[in-house]
Amino acid sequence: MIPFTGLERYKGNQNLIQCVLMSVLSSYANEPLHLHAEGLRGTGKTTIMRSVRDILPSITRIKGCIYNCDPGNPHCPEHRHLSTEEITAIGWEEIPMPFLEISHSAKVGTVAGSIDLARLTDISNPEAQLLPGLIPQAHRGIIFIDEINRLADTSPEITDILLDVMGNKPGHIQIEEAGLPAVEIEVQVSVWAASNPDEEPGPLEEIRRQLSDRFDLVCFMGRPDSVETVARILADNSYACRVRNTARYSKTKIPVDDSYRQQLLKWANQYQAIYMPDFLRKYIARLYIRYNLESIRAIEAIQQAALLQAVMQGREKVLVSDVNQVIPLALKHRVDSDTLLRIMKDMEGQGDGILRFKNPTNDKQQGNNSEYFQHQAAY
Ligand SMILES: [Zn+2]
Repeated sequence: MIPFTGLERYKGNQNLIQCVLMSVLSSYANEPLHLHAEGLRGTGKTTIMRSVRDILPSITRIKGCIYNCDPGNPHCPEHRHLSTEEITAIGWEEIPMPFLEISHSAKVGTVAGSIDLARLTDISNPEAQLLPGLIPQAHRGIIFIDEINRLADTSPEITDILLDVMGNKPGHIQIEEAGLPAVEIEVQVSVWAASNPDEEPGPLEEIRRQLSDRFDLVCFMGRPDSVETVARILADNSYACRVRNTARYSKTKIPVDDSYRQQLLKWANQYQAIYMPDFLRKYIARLYIRYNLESIRAIEAIQQAALLQAVMQGREKVLVSDVNQVIPLALKHRVDSDTLLRIMKDMEGQGDGILRFKNPTNDKQQGNNSEYFQHQAAY
């Protein structure tokens, strides 16, 4: 596997590299950011997403807890009723932030969890014999699904689980067995997915619109744009290079590059303190009203991504340009292309600190909302 630091970077994949870092940072700060990478086969979506495993920061969990209970906020059936003293007595440990994958052959029980019926002695308390699923075990980390469009088409049950997990932040998982009370577990997981909308069964938003809307950001992988880049990718994908990389990355111990991990921890600290000025929040809210956006999730995603973007640029507050930059990522899968074009046209020229829409005279609500059209930013 190519490490994150060894990725070939070019214009078409920069957005995805930025988005995965945003999501890792957000997951570490306990606020999932769901990410969907769309693009042609072979553009390196899955390589980028999987390569993040070697820069993931550590999380602290109650010692031995397979659900990754935060010692300060235990949620699993075994630990959620314990007192601080009891948790201190068990102790805690550091583990790498979880990164787990759901394959297409996965069953509902493997993904969500199940009840160990053979060991169940008290049917009123099924949670005592819970067999953990992949998603609860990825709590406070990332779940990755390749070819999400195919999964949505062939596994409606797993899609329903994802809808629950991604429905709120934190989400939840319900484990049900006939004749037993349902067990519910909280899960805080960033769901990452990849797909090629040009291949069967087509784009996710056409297969299961509801699931498509659950993704905060959709990143479209561009094609490499220069002969040099394509030639480098060609060389990287050559047989000789793959053999060399296998030897280099799996058989020998390559020194761990800790710089990204350190940077992520620094950003996570700043993320606690970053703020969004009121006028910018109204600016985002106005998109919802003016363009009649279907989902409030869209503008929540814009807000969250703009905050993350500002932190990663080393700023203490969000700028108009941060918001404008993430709008296409949050809206391209939620509005038709004409609407997105209109929105982006309206936004043109607004990275200069002056907040205004380009064609205010076309807006019916201009009289009531003039502060949105021209608001001198404070910085
Ligand atoms: Zn626990």
